[in-house]
Amino acid sequence: MPIATVNPANGETVQTYEAMGEEEIERRLQLAEATFRTYRTTSFGERARLLHRAADLLEGDQDEIGRVITTEMGKPVKQARAEAAKCAKAMRWYADHAAELLADETPAEADVKDSGGSRALVRYRPLGPVLAVMPWNFPLWQVVRFAAPALMAGNVGLLKHASNVPQTALYLEDLFHRAGFPEGCFQTLLIGSAAVDDILRDERVRAATLTGSEPAGRAVAATAGEMIKKTVLELGGSDPFVVMPSADVGRAAEVAVTARVQNAGQSCIAAKRFLAHTDVYDAFAERFVAGMKALKVGDPMEESTDVGPLSSEQGVRDLAELVEDAVRGGATVLCGGERPEGPGWYYPPTVLSGITREMRIHREETFGPVATLYRVADLDEAVLLANDTDFGLSSNVWTRDEADVDRFVRDLEAGGVYVNGMTASHPAFPFGGVKRSGYGRELSGHGIREFCNITTVWHG
Ligand code: NAP
Repeated sequence: MPIATVNPANGETVQTYEAMGEEEIERRLQLAEATFRTYRTTSFGERARLLHRAADLLEGDQDEIGRVITTEMGKPVKQARAEAAKCAKAMRWYADHAAELLADETPAEADVKDSGGSRALVRYRPLGPVLAVMPWNFPLWQVVRFAAPALMAGNVGLLKHASNVPQTALYLEDLFHRAGFPEGCFQTLLIGSAAVDDILRDERVRAATLTGSEPAGRAVAATAGEMIKKTVLELGGSDPFVVMPSADVGRAAEVAVTARVQNAGQSCIAAKRFLAHTDVYDAFAERFVAGMKALKVGDPMEESTDVGPLSSEQGVRDLAELVEDAVRGGATVLCGGERPEGPGWYYPPTVLSGITREMRIHREETFGPVATLYRVADLDEAVLLANDTDFGLSSNVWTRDEADVDRFVRDLEAGGVYVNGMTASHPAFPFGGVKRSGYGRELSGHGIREFCNITTVWHG
């Protein structure tokens, strides 16, 4: 894939970039290592001061960077601005909490005595340069949720961003530079995915985090495994959205629309499979479909647009194929389902019912505004069907019955269970999945400790 900004609203190439060559990559790896040697000794207070500055700058830039994001990957501009604001919030959260999250831990006195020691502590020390391989769908947020904790922990970051968001990638390097972080704390590598393997094998790179597809995760984890390097993987999702009889069906249907179509449906934690109990199925389906039909699809630069284009022609093709396969297999199209004529990579909000296990859409992730609707007979079937996927990122359940909640929290195979609401990340809560959605966690104390050398200090 060429490194280029191509506007998804019209398919026009705005700007292309030359990939960095070996020499430039080597220079940047050297710089990362040299910077780490001194940056690791800075105080939490100093790092926090810089990260607060970055948050202030980002907030000030949100109109401008919002338009860049919209031009590069097509998300409605109001959502792009909101993404920038959310990043500033996460930066401040880590700036304010890192010292406490990474404070020395003291084992129980009895255990220290039992070990034959006089005193002991556990210290979270930084690991070194961490490679971040990131996707285009939330081109600021995915990076910031890695970078803010990494920088607060005393690590330095090397970003390999998706090839279709080079301007956002360069903006991020510039942002941290302007905030006053030493040169080399956060660097963007303008490279294609084929260059990742050699960089990951370089001994100066100590760990890697990847957010993206399963094949990319598998490739990075395989090399990291060979090199014995720690990885965190945030991969795909096919989150269930379950509506039980006691739910506020109207509210559930309203939130279901947002949960499915935010970012034109290109979100790992978007609700993708909608499971309604037979008692409320018709009421839910009617309102959900009406909500999907009412969305305004169009130019992502318009403030009133709800759903913009998908990020690529390939993305539209993949999605259309899943829908066509389902329709061939007997699925019913309740709305959408036809790619519109004209320029741009648009796909309409679509709802399908009559899904069977044989259809590809039942197994695969729909990375666009296409929802599948299922009727379930009872709680057992809801749990069974919700777990009938290779993915396990998050889940959404709508019920006012505490017994339902207990059952979902006990049995849903996912890294999150959101009750009477939609999954949304927050800096204070761990984020990540099980099964083929990946491993490790981002955000919260769990996220910042992923790339730490957890060191036992023991005194005889
Ligand atoms: P992708 O093709 O895997 O790309 C993600 C990143 O990986 C890009 O920087 C890409 O570089 C790079 N890459 C691709 N193949 C690689 C390889 N073999 N070795 C090393 N790097 C490689 O994913 P995408 O299509 O852009 O993003 C959509 C996927 O990401 C969906 O499955 C979505 O669910 C998932 N996602 C997960 C989360 C989460 O938190 N769990 C969040 C967002 C998205 P190039 O651009 O140069 O190819």
